[in-house]
Amino acid sequence: MSDEIIEATPEQVIAVIEQMVDLPWPDGDEWLEWELDGIEGQTTYLMHLLPLAATSDAAAQASFTSALVVAANRRWGARRYFDATRFTDDKHTDPASYDRRSAPASLVRSLGADTAAWWPLGSDAVVLADSSGAALERSKAAVFVLPAQWLAGPGAEEDALRAPLVADFLSGEKARILNAVWEVFATRDPEILAPLALALPAIEKATADADLGGMLASNSANLEHALDRIELFGKGVCLCAAYPSHQFYDPAKEVRRGHIRIVETVPSDWKRVPDRICECRDCGKRFQVEEGEYHYTWWKWTEAGRS
Ligand SMILES: [Zn+2]
Repeated sequence: MSDEIIEATPEQVIAVIEQMVDLPWPDGDEWLEWELDGIEGQTTYLMHLLPLAATSDAAAQASFTSALVVAANRRWGARRYFDATRFTDDKHTDPASYDRRSAPASLVRSLGADTAAWWPLGSDAVVLADSSGAALERSKAAVFVLPAQWLAGPGAEEDALRAPLVADFLSGEKARILNAVWEVFATRDPEILAPLALALPAIEKATADADLGGMLASNSANLEHALDRIELFGKGVCLCAAYPSHQFYDPAKEVRRGHIRIVETVPSDWKRVPDRICECRDCGKRFQVEEGEYHYTWWKWTEAGRS
């Protein structure tokens, strides 16, 4: 790539990235060249690499990558951040204390960037490194696709088991488990959900036989839904995907939590509360929400396209 930005729309780049996860790996240190939908890249032992830009026009690169970030957030959920300045181990580091995050970190730094945006995609991570904000003579941008374990620190699983909500789920105490269930219902915060996703196998095991009771709605169904939410987060799916499968998502509360906005109400002559059209603030998906009453208030969310 000489002085250029690839000619592709964000949607075309995303379609290529989703095929990159299935590319074959090379033997040893060789590099494999590949082409997907007319876009070229390479694969090393560590990652599949898609060069996006190498240019003296940082502003043009920034507008290209910001459009890509918006499209990627819609497709895979809100981006996360990877701080490449924190992991600087190299071949001189004692292998026993080598932090595996140093490998992707050195790639990000080699493009002139200090941080990168990333999204989980199945068991892989999609990393976007972009140095257009670094005031370099020549800025660069590229996407790497690599197994997500390269972005997880040593002992990440052990650390996750000590997170407060994880401890609640593992406690075996009904009140603590139910508290954790409602916290999970109410949040999309990666800081809270990431340790839960790492600890999910342990949580499933610990809660499998929990007797949680419940009067009108079964608490174990609520627990099951909370675990589904954690799993959606782990897969990088936008959490609005959880709305249609549970009846306790009150649109007013979801607005207060900053997850959705109500864009329209649907007038009705016979309904006590008119249906509302709600739009997810992370991915733009829209839902029609019906409110009803049967012993308790319930809400039925049905997908209604995109803005
Ligand atoms: Zn969404």
